[in-house]
Amino acid sequence: MHQHDVLIIGAGLAGLRAAVEAARMGVDAAVVTKVHPVRSHSNAAQGGINAPLTDRGDEWEGHALDTIKGSDYLADQDAVELMSREAGAAIIELEHMGVIFSRNEDGQLGTRRFGGQKVARTFFVGAITGSAMLHVLYEQAIKLDVNIYEEWFVSNLIIEDGACRGVVAMNIHSGELHTIKAKAVIMATGGAGRVFEPSTNALICTGEGLGLAYRAGAPLMDMEMIQYHPTTLAGSGILLSEAARGEGAYLLNSEGERFMKTYAPDYLELASRDVVSRAEQTEINEGRGIDGNILLDLRHLGRQFIEERLGYLQEVAVEFLGMDLAEQPVPIRPGMHYIMGGIKTNVDGATEVPGLYAAGETANVSVHGGNRLGANSLLDTVVFGRRAAVAAAEYARTVGLHSSDESMLELEKKRYQDLLDRPADLRSAHVRREMAENMTAGIGVFRDQASIDGAIAKVEELRGVYARVAVENKGKVFNTDLMSAIELEYMLDVAQAVCAGADARKESRGAHFRTDMPERDDENWLKHTLVYKDGDGARVETLDVTITNWQPVERVY
Ligand SMILES: Cc1cc2nc3c(=O)[nH]c(=O)nc-3n(C[C@H](O)[C@H](O)[C@H](O)COP(=O)(O)OP(=O)(O)OC[C@H]3O[C@@H](n4cnc5c(N)ncnc54)[C@H](O)[C@@H]3O)c2cc1C
Repeated sequence: MHQHDVLIIGAGLAGLRAAVEAARMGVDAAVVTKVHPVRSHSNAAQGGINAPLTDRGDEWEGHALDTIKGSDYLADQDAVELMSREAGAAIIELEHMGVIFSRNEDGQLGTRRFGGQKVARTFFVGAITGSAMLHVLYEQAIKLDVNIYEEWFVSNLIIEDGACRGVVAMNIHSGELHTIKAKAVIMATGGAGRVFEPSTNALICTGEGLGLAYRAGAPLMDMEMIQYHPTTLAGSGILLSEAARGEGAYLLNSEGERFMKTYAPDYLELASRDVVSRAEQTEINEGRGIDGNILLDLRHLGRQFIEERLGYLQEVAVEFLGMDLAEQPVPIRPGMHYIMGGIKTNVDGATEVPGLYAAGETANVSVHGGNRLGANSLLDTVVFGRRAAVAAAEYARTVGLHSSDESMLELEKKRYQDLLDRPADLRSAHVRREMAENMTAGIGVFRDQASIDGAIAKVEELRGVYARVAVENKGKVFNTDLMSAIELEYMLDVAQAVCAGADARKESRGAHFRTDMPERDDENWLKHTLVYKDGDGARVETLDVTITNWQPVERVY
């Protein structure tokens, strides 16, 4: 049996930042991750990380207001305040650790302007910001001797006397199951993009963390808030970073018009993502698209600028479409990108299950509310990853010895064996695809009661057939078929919670736009949805949004 004080599930930016902090606090910290740390999805973040730096004349209040407006007033303002106040120190710390942020002509850290923000406050490393940060945090974790269970797959939590006391995980190399006991566990398992198809997310973004916490009794909050990114490549659905528009790219319809002037006269292409995605979808639906897409035009920026500042985007366009951004506009459309919802936490990462903390995309401390601003997620991971580690380490100091109970391990062994023993029938990949395409159809950029009801019915049908999902590969070593079947069970939980939230919220706010209820309803719905697992179904409760300084007003860009 393995044991630690603080066990962090996930080695993306949230998990590694938490690990560094826990190790600095002198507790025995370990990380368990199903992929090599630098393969985490954080590695794919291109555009940058926001921070208001006072030496630029930028103040935290400006960032907080943009974030709250971006959230369509659903973010908890105490949490946003904390994030905005801590952002500057977090960026400087990353720089000191070794993240080589791009600089401007004066030699200062350079910025670009991202959507929904009044000023340029997005710091970046070319178009590889996430990768640069992740490599540096990984080095720091190694330097601090953090234990890393690399390529271990967590499939269940150990709950003892109502508190989380570790996990059961499979060593993917050997297929063996182990318990890893811990006094506190931090869930940093990232997003759930693959519950939708297509998605900009890596194939590993399957959202087990959400399902595990949900099953342990923690509520999932505002799960209906799914972000569709305005610029994903036609066909493959690969992301073209917002950095393109941040650096001045235009969006054009089939008539060659910069149509954003109709939808967001002041911010144009740099309105918040929900607004831009809806505008694009409206153009497409009204017949001003091109084969279901619209165009992203960078030609006026010039070849040299594109290659210097947006080199990675150029590579993606050439490789996947055979198109040169300096010569041609590229076809793009809105695509599923991020989940604002997640495991409900307080500002210190604590969930409603004692001993269980959460941070990063899997958590919902509520800084993004109904719509996340570009470059606020990387900030969220480092600010709240750190805070969760402080709280978890302090909590771990109050917990006595580890228990020697191994009953969860036995149950989990049986669960794996049952899956392996099932006669060949349904493949998890088929069920996954059906679920994910259904989610995009039902809980899309636009939705209504009929589409939500359709999604609910399909998810329930697929939950019903899960018992027939069989694993063809019976081997021990790197059995991704087996992992995929287990991931699917949790993905269906996530889908259920998303549908329940969408069904419950009877208004339009942020990314949740209902064509049958197109108005925001502050009177009744300035509230979070909380989805609890209730037997096989979902139960929805609501919770008031925390308002501190900023009263909701009409949102125009
Ligand atoms: C293409 C793309 C570009 C983006 N660009 C930006 C950007 O420019 N700026 C910005 O702010 N945000 C951006 N985002 C969003 C941002 O990158 C993510 O929200 C953020 O990096 C998530 O970090 P995380 O630490 O929460 O999770 P991740 O980085 O996704 O890490 C999750 C970790 O959990 C582990 N894990 C999951 N399940 C298990 C399990 N069952 N057992 C063991 N380990 C498990 C994984 O191995 C992984 O290490 C982008 C996202 C995408 C997809």
